[in-house]
Amino acid sequence: MARRHESARGSMPLKELLISKESKAMASFGVYDLDTMMRFAPRRYVVPAPLRSLHEVNEGEAVSAVVSVVSVRDRAMRSRRGFVLEVTVSDGIEDMPLTFFLTKPHHVQWHRSRLPLGALITVHGTVGYDDYRESLQITHPDYETIEDTDEGRAWAQRPRPIYPLRQNIALATMRSAVEKGLEFADSLARPVPDEVIARRGLPQLAEATRLVHTPLTVEDTRRGMAHLRYEEAFILQAIFAQRRAQDERTPAPVLSAEGPLQPLLDQRLPFTLTDGQRDIGAMIQERIGKDHPTSVLLQGDVGSGKTVVALRAMLRAVDSGHQAALLAPTEVLAEQHHRTLMTLLGDLARAGQLDGHAAATRVRLLTGSQRTAGRRETLLDVTSGQAGIVVGTHALLAEKVQFASLGLVVIDEQHRFGVDHRRRLRAKGPAGQSPHVIVMTATPIPRTAALATVGDLDVLTLDESPGQRAGVTSFVVHEKLPKWEQRMWQRAAEEIAAGRQVFVVCARIDEDDAADDAPAPSILDENGREQAPSLDPARGVLQTALRLTERPELTGARLGILHGRLTGEEKQEVMGQMVRGEIDVLVSTTVIEVGVDVPNASVMIILDAERFGVSQLHQLRGRVGRGEHAGIAFFDTSGVPGKEHSTHLRAIAETTDGFELAELDLRRRGAGDLVGEEQSGLQRTLKHLDVIRDARAIEQAREDAFAVVAADPELTTHPVLAGAIEDRLRDADPDVERS
Ligand code: ADP
Ligand code: MG
Repeated sequence: MARRHESARGSMPLKELLISKESKAMASFGVYDLDTMMRFAPRRYVVPAPLRSLHEVNEGEAVSAVVSVVSVRDRAMRSRRGFVLEVTVSDGIEDMPLTFFLTKPHHVQWHRSRLPLGALITVHGTVGYDDYRESLQITHPDYETIEDTDEGRAWAQRPRPIYPLRQNIALATMRSAVEKGLEFADSLARPVPDEVIARRGLPQLAEATRLVHTPLTVEDTRRGMAHLRYEEAFILQAIFAQRRAQDERTPAPVLSAEGPLQPLLDQRLPFTLTDGQRDIGAMIQERIGKDHPTSVLLQGDVGSGKTVVALRAMLRAVDSGHQAALLAPTEVLAEQHHRTLMTLLGDLARAGQLDGHAAATRVRLLTGSQRTAGRRETLLDVTSGQAGIVVGTHALLAEKVQFASLGLVVIDEQHRFGVDHRRRLRAKGPAGQSPHVIVMTATPIPRTAALATVGDLDVLTLDESPGQRAGVTSFVVHEKLPKWEQRMWQRAAEEIAAGRQVFVVCARIDEDDAADDAPAPSILDENGREQAPSLDPARGVLQTALRLTERPELTGARLGILHGRLTGEEKQEVMGQMVRGEIDVLVSTTVIEVGVDVPNASVMIILDAERFGVSQLHQLRGRVGRGEHAGIAFFDTSGVPGKEHSTHLRAIAETTDGFELAELDLRRRGAGDLVGEEQSGLQRTLKHLDVIRDARAIEQAREDAFAVVAADPELTTHPVLAGAIEDRLRDADPDVERS
C-alpha cells in the first residue's frame, strides 16, 4: 500500500536542491524535503583502522596508513583485457606496492590524476601477499589525498557514515545528497527553542547535522545524534503536554459519589483487596472525581487483579448517575468479562428482576455478532441509561451506539486499541463532556518507555499479585527432537489424568491456507542485520487437532477447537465447554490470548512459539497456573537448538518478571514497535529514540516541553514547534490523530 506523503511544512523540496538520481534515492526512503533529509541518520559509521607504519603491518590485517606516492606504473595485462596499475608508496621507512586491476584506460587516467608523485595520501585496505614478487601489497585500497597537517590527518581518519541502502542506490549518492543539504543547514526548521538546546548542553541543529553526517570523530556522531534524539523526544512530549492541557480545558462528569453500589460490591467480594488494589483504587477515585477527563494506564501482570479495580471505578460512575463501558479486544473476552462482572456483582447486576438488589443496575453485553432482537433491547438499555455498565468490543464504538451518559470507559488490553479509538470514545460523553478513560494492560512497560509512548496517560502499576496463584514454569521444546515432543505430550496426558485441562495454541488456522502463514518475525543480530533463520511452515489448528487424535499419549482425551472463523455463538459454546471441564485439550489460535479464565487448566502448549511476540507468549502462559494448580508452559519450536529463535525463547522461558520481559522485548524489536503492530499512532514511528537507552533525554525533554506548553499552550510564540507537531501527528497516523 502506497503511503500518502506530504513534505514537512515549509521545508525545501529535495527536487529543487538535488540532481534527479539523488532525490530519487531519498524518495525511495520517503524523504522528500530538506528538513527530513538532514534528520535521516546513518545506520552506522565505519571508522578507519588506526594509522600504522608500513613496517609493522602483517598479511591479512586491515590497515590505514599515511604515505606518499613514490612511483606510478601501468601496463596492459597479458592474459586478458585490462590494465594493472602499480603505485609504490612509502611512509618514509618502508615501501609498499598498491595494486589496481582496471578494465578501461580512463580508469587508469583517473587514478593517475589523483596520485601525482610526492602526493600525501591515506590508504585503507587489507594487506595481502604477492607470491610473484614475494612481498606484501595492498590490492584495491581506498585512498584519499590529504593535507600534511594535523587537521588533514584527522580528516582522513574520520568515521564514514553508512546510510541505509536499497537496491541500485549507491552509498556515494546518499552521501552527496546529504552533503549538499548541509550547505543549507542554517535554514533548517528548529522546533526546539535554541535556549533549551543550549541549556541542555547540546549542539545547535545546524552543527548537529554536520556532526551526524560529516563527523570528524566518533564522539562527534554521539553529540550530533544526541540533538536529533532530544528533538524527537521534545516534539513527542510537547504533543503529550498539549493533550493534557486540552484535557484540563475539557469538562468531564464528576464521578465522586460514595455509594451505594461500590461499597455493596466491596462487602460481597469473595476475597479481601490487596493493598495495591486499594491504593490504586484510591488514586483512580481521586482522578475520576474531578471535572476534567483523566486518562490512566493501569498496568499489572496477568492475574494481578485489574478487573476488580476497574469494576470498583465503574460502580463509582454508576453511583454518580453515569454509565461505564468496558471494552475488550475480542468477543470471547468481552463475553468473559461480562460473565465475570455478573458473577462478582450478583444481585447488584439484576436491576428489575425479582431477586435483584434494590440499588442494582444492569450490565449489558454488546458485540458485533449479536442477533438483532437481543441487540435492540441492549441498545435501548444503553440509550435510556438502564444499563449502568456496558461490556463490548469495538462494536461499542459504532456511531449509532448512543449512551445516556457515559462517564467512564475502561479499555482492556491497550495494545489492540489505538489512540484513535480512545479519541473516538472521548466524543461519546454527555453534552460536551468527555468520559474518563482507564486503559488496562498486562504488558507493563518501563517508566521512560511509558513516558515516550503513552505520555498522555498517568501510569499506575499493580505490582503485587493476589497470593493464591500457583504460578507457571516454562520450557522450550524442540519439535525436531522426538523425545522432547513425546515427553511434552506425556506431561499433558499426566495432567489430564489428574483432572486438569490443556491449551494448545497454533499460529494459524489452516495449513492449506498459504496466505495464512505469516513469516516468523526476523531477529536482528548485534549489528542490526537481519538473520533469516529457516523454519518450517506454521502448524494449523485444524491439522494439529487431527494429529493429536493419533498421538498415543492422548488416547481418549476429549479435544475441542477454537478459532476466529467460528461464529460468535460457536466460540461461546466451545469456551463454555472448556470452562465446564467438558474438553480436555483445546486447540486454538490466539483467540484465547488474553484474559480467558479456566482455573482448572494447567498446561499451555504453544506450537511454533517463535512466531509469537514476547508479550503474547507471556499472556498465553498466564492462562495456566491461575488457580491452585501449578501451570506448565511449553514453547514448541522448529528452530534449531542453540540458535537465535531457540535462545530467544529460552530467555522468555527463564524470565517471569513482566518488566524484565518488556525490556527483553524492547531490546529485540526496538522501540519503533513498542506496543504491538496493531497500535496506531506515535509509538510506531519513533525514528531515533531508544526508550531504554535514551531514558535521560526523554525525561529532560518532558520537563522542557511541558514547561514550554504550560507557558504558551497554543504555541503561538513557537510556530515551528507547532508545525513540527502537526507533521509528527500526520506521520504517525494520517487519518485520525489530527483531531
Ligand atoms: P488481570 O485482569 O489483572 O489479569 P484478574 O482481574 O482477572 O487479573 O484477576 C485474576 C484472578 O484473581 C481473578 O480470578 C480474580 O477474581 C482474582 N482476584 C482478584 N483480586 C483478588 C484478591 N485481592 N484476592 C484474591 N483473588 C483476587
Ligand atoms: Mg484481565
